[in-house]
Amino acid sequence: MKKILITGGAGFIGSHVVRRFVSNYPQCEIVNLDALTYAGNLANLADVEDKSNYRFVKMDITNAAEINQLFKTEDFDAVIHLAAESHVDRSIANPLAFVMTNVIGTVNLLNAAREYWKGDYANKRFYHVSTDEVYGALGETGMFTESTAYDPHSPYSASKASSDHFVRAYHDTYGLDVVISNCSNNYGSHHFPEKLIPLAINNIKNNRSVPVYGKGENVRDWLWVEDHARAIDVIFHQAKSGETYNIGGHNEWKNIDLIHLLCRIMDSKLGREAGESAKLITFVTDRAGHDLRYAIDSTKLQKELGWVPSLQFEEGLEKTVDWYLDNEEWLNNVTSGHYQAYYDNQYKGR
Ligand code: NAD
Repeated sequence: MKKILITGGAGFIGSHVVRRFVSNYPQCEIVNLDALTYAGNLANLADVEDKSNYRFVKMDITNAAEINQLFKTEDFDAVIHLAAESHVDRSIANPLAFVMTNVIGTVNLLNAAREYWKGDYANKRFYHVSTDEVYGALGETGMFTESTAYDPHSPYSASKASSDHFVRAYHDTYGLDVVISNCSNNYGSHHFPEKLIPLAINNIKNNRSVPVYGKGENVRDWLWVEDHARAIDVIFHQAKSGETYNIGGHNEWKNIDLIHLLCRIMDSKLGREAGESAKLITFVTDRAGHDLRYAIDSTKLQKELGWVPSLQFEEGLEKTVDWYLDNEEWLNNVTSGHYQAYYDNQYKGR
């Protein structure tokens, strides 16, 4: 039986990866390691917590001693590393937390793998889940490929770029079997409502203003989170050691167009008059250093490993809205307490 450590499994993407691996690989033991920060929520995994091949370990990856002890006692066959501080706005307010978790935490895991796997890299694998934001920003044309030079602009993307470099360095220097994927913006169920789509759904539902940075001109590529989890599965099982794959939806949207689409879906779901939800849109002062456009070319993944996105955006967005409307308790739980203080501070005076 293979034992796979998944870090950050209580978060948005991590919970989808854990669910997929627990269900699809009953012969594998899945250990979910998560510090349960504000973004970690075991309720995301309520449907798998009783499965016999699933286990949760509460641990902070910045704690090297605890990470080493864990690797010493558990003979992991692989790591799929997703634990991270993930929100750009929070990285602008507190960059050091991003250095600690995303850089130091990743190096702690790499060190533990190096020390306790004892060079048995033919049978072990370290998979690092990363972002397309490491490539910087694009103008009106062009796409990021795997050979685009790194040019991160925010503290978040700088910390993820740094961790990507460390992962490659452990491959080149020590021979560790590593793979990295860089993915575009994800959307779907269990997404913490500080990010654009779930924040807008929550605010529209509650008739609160929907803040849009600048004039909403920034362009992002959006991928359904379950398609990302499937891409991770495919890359984890099929990629050669040292490879990098870009993952994306070939689905670019200006923020303002996306919000208008969401408003139309919400009008219809909530039985509101057409155009009612769009009245809530409020333009706020732009994010500092806001990258204009990201677009990612996932041709390599499609051609070499046969992965393609499964869902059209409109369909995925409607499924996502349905999930939030059907899971009011989940939404109320995560938006109570500290969330409100964070939200008020983030958007005050904007
Ligand atoms: P998230 O913020 O929803 O979840 C992060 C998880 O990591 C949480 O469960 C949190 O408790 C845990 N965590 C944070 N600090 C930790 C620490 N010090 N020790 C242990 N656990 C800790 O993030 P997400 O959106 O699910 O992103 C997961 C990964 O995917 C990240 O590495 C992110 O950079 C990457 N990524 C995200 C996107 C996206 O659109 N969300 C796109 C591309 C790549």
